[in-house]
Amino acid sequence: MDTYVPPLADIELILDNVADLPGLLATPAFADVDRDLVSQVLSEIGRFMGEVVAPLNRVGDEQGSLRNDDASVTTPEGFKEAYAQYVATGFGAIPFDPTYGGGGFPWTIAIVIQEMLTSAAMAFSLCPLLTQGAIDALQHHGSAEQKELYLPKMLTGEWTGTMNLTEPQAGSDVGALTTKAEPVGDGSYRIKGQKIFITYGEHDLAENIVHLVLARTPDSAPGTRGISMFLVPKYLVGPDGSLGDRNDVTCVSLEHKLGIHASPTCVLSYGEGDGAIGWLIGDEGDGMRNMFTMMNNARLSVGLQGLALAERAYQQALTYATERLQGTAIGAPRGTSSPIIDHADVRRMLMTQRSWIDAMRCLIYANAAAIDRSAALAGTPEGERAREVTDLYTPLSKSLCTDVGVEMTSLALQIHGGMGYVEETGMAQHFRDARIAPIYEGTNGIQAADLVGRKLPMRNGEVVADELAAIEEVATELGANDQLAGFGDQLLAAAGAARRATKWLLANGAADPNQALGASSPYLRLLGTVVCGGLLGRLGLAALAAVVAGDDPEGLQAAKVVSARFFGEQILPAVLGLEAVVTAGSGDLFALDADQLR
Ligand SMILES: Cc1cc2nc3c(=O)[nH]c(=O)nc-3n(C[C@H](O)[C@H](O)[C@H](O)COP(=O)(O)OP(=O)(O)OC[C@H]3O[C@@H](n4cnc5c(N)ncnc54)[C@H](O)[C@@H]3O)c2cc1C
Repeated sequence: MDTYVPPLADIELILDNVADLPGLLATPAFADVDRDLVSQVLSEIGRFMGEVVAPLNRVGDEQGSLRNDDASVTTPEGFKEAYAQYVATGFGAIPFDPTYGGGGFPWTIAIVIQEMLTSAAMAFSLCPLLTQGAIDALQHHGSAEQKELYLPKMLTGEWTGTMNLTEPQAGSDVGALTTKAEPVGDGSYRIKGQKIFITYGEHDLAENIVHLVLARTPDSAPGTRGISMFLVPKYLVGPDGSLGDRNDVTCVSLEHKLGIHASPTCVLSYGEGDGAIGWLIGDEGDGMRNMFTMMNNARLSVGLQGLALAERAYQQALTYATERLQGTAIGAPRGTSSPIIDHADVRRMLMTQRSWIDAMRCLIYANAAAIDRSAALAGTPEGERAREVTDLYTPLSKSLCTDVGVEMTSLALQIHGGMGYVEETGMAQHFRDARIAPIYEGTNGIQAADLVGRKLPMRNGEVVADELAAIEEVATELGANDQLAGFGDQLLAAAGAARRATKWLLANGAADPNQALGASSPYLRLLGTVVCGGLLGRLGLAALAAVVAGDDPEGLQAAKVVSARFFGEQILPAVLGLEAVVTAGSGDLFALDADQLR
């Protein structure tokens, strides 16, 4: 029952109609990537995820990764073999620079692959995910020598990567970190300090681990300005790429967690001896800036975890709803038991999941395509517009999709009744696994602060205004169509609510930042849902055009019209209430002092 079938048809539809993959592939940057080739690759990878990776999900949850007495970490049964197969396929290299063995595909395709990998086994997916993040950082900021030495093995996955920001006193406030890096005089540094919560900081899947570590050099400026980024391999690497001595970095313990049990979350101690040997990436003091260049990609990758787990849980809930017999549905013969899928309230839960999954996939892929366009068309007005869309969409993708991911896995669990709450069906695991995504890679509260503090003020609010104007155009098109006119009305009303909430925040946030920060999370939900409405509107229009043209052999396009309309008529209207929440002001948040909150 707990299987995963990659939703390739849905993926392809949204790639073409919302992310405009054909347009992206027409840019010179992707001249060598053919649309049919993308389909072949995705279908091959989807098969691998369903057959090889998905079966690891359950065993990973049950066994978890374990730390041994010698400080090594053993991953659950089957992980090593599956990872070796993953390396052999070369899938990890697909979106990267061909100079280092990459496939030169758009990042959008990497995101689709990550989605399928995460749906298959989220705890397994985190190792390749962190490795891709580290590759991204090295590609942008590493020296030519570092790139030549490390990237080829990291692209294949033979060496994996980690990101080391968090320390006990430095979580959201990265600027509070105290790990030290002393220059030795030969170009290397000695790193000393403790990092916590490091995903795949130690494991048995690969022969080497490349840690990217944020640390402070002597006499560096306080706060984020004094932070530098270092490359610290688990095993030192010779000039010819051969592995040498073990570096001075130790896994002190593993965390016991609510979910993603197979993903080792490590406390890493650097420099219990003479200091771990590390090399500066970029310049001293540029650590945070360098980290930010890859932040958009990393945040999008976490956002898609909400989508991926919602998809996996939905597939299971749908199967359960067709098999579980309870009660007699309206219209069914008396005395018979109906599958619960025939009850209206269960239908509501299924349709809500179906629509949100489509909405999240639209947002995530549109965001990924904007990342690609901003790079492929850099220096042109279209490239600049894509950069703005990337900046605006990223906190929406991260926060909205991870919050909704928790809600949708909860709904899928609800469909299982009591069998969802017990571990036997595997449903509870999806819900537990989904809960981390709103927390890491910048909590959702930090994303909301980023939205109102940095993104909303872009061009004095005109970036948001442009986005809303584009959504209103979609609403007008929907309104001109009999089957989608109700959706069009709701989208227009919701865009109006977003405009008024935005205006209120711009007017009140400058004078009193707590007005903007206090309303930031409901505002993010409002704006994110409206943006999803606009994207689903485009999908619905394209799908309806295909139905009208008779180009819908499988009935997929007709189903997308209904899913989009359901979102527009039954999910989107809730944002009107959020306008009132945002514009009520934040006065009561601080009306009680801490003692009165008891
Ligand atoms: C399973 C797991 C894996 C992880 N993997 C990694 C990894 O690989 N590498 C790594 O470096 N880190 C990793 N982390 C750490 C993760 O990124 C942090 O937990 C996260 O950034 C939050 O920091 P914190 O836990 O210290 O919470 P805090 O920063 O203490 O936040 C607590 C609460 O306060 C809120 N808050 C804090 N500051 C503000 C503010 N200024 N404005 C508004 N609200 C605020 C937060 O939103 C949150 O709700 C991982 C964590 C977990 C649990």
